[in-house]
Amino acid sequence: MTILPTAVLTTTQLVGGLVASAKNALDLAKASSDHSLKASISELYDSLLDVKGRVLDLDEENRRLKTALVMKDEVVGPIEPHGYFFLKDKPNQPICPKCLQSQPSNSVFLSPLSERYDGARRECVICHWQHYETTKQPSGPVRRRSFSSLRNQR
Ligand SMILES: [Zn+2]
Repeated sequence: MTILPTAVLTTTQLVGGLVASAKNALDLAKASSDHSLKASISELYDSLLDVKGRVLDLDEENRRLKTALVMKDEVVGPIEPHGYFFLKDKPNQPICPKCLQSQPSNSVFLSPLSERYDGARRECVICHWQHYETTKQPSGPVRRRSFSSLRNQR
């Protein structure tokens, strides 16, 4: 086993090392005839496993918050009239709000504005969220079947 200075180790490695040491002590205690020693080392080992679980959760939470902090610095929005988010250094390229607010957060540029028969919209290539910046009435008569024509179909 390599001994690294504790400052170099990650929290996960430190706790992993602690649990391994406790397991070692537990194995040694099993050979002992001292029942109270066995019981207290077993209890210590169980408590350490609980601590390990908590530390891993907190480590994950910490990582998530750090990422969110970085994102908060880089992203501005939502900005009206469309509620888009933007990277500070790319103020003309809106980011998909759905992908940005999902877990884990993801910065995906929306497609350029595309003119369609029913309006101009942007779309996310990842989650297909779409937003119309302008809408227009479809030209020409809209053909709708009346209720009675549906009923008489059979
Ligand atoms: Zn998206």
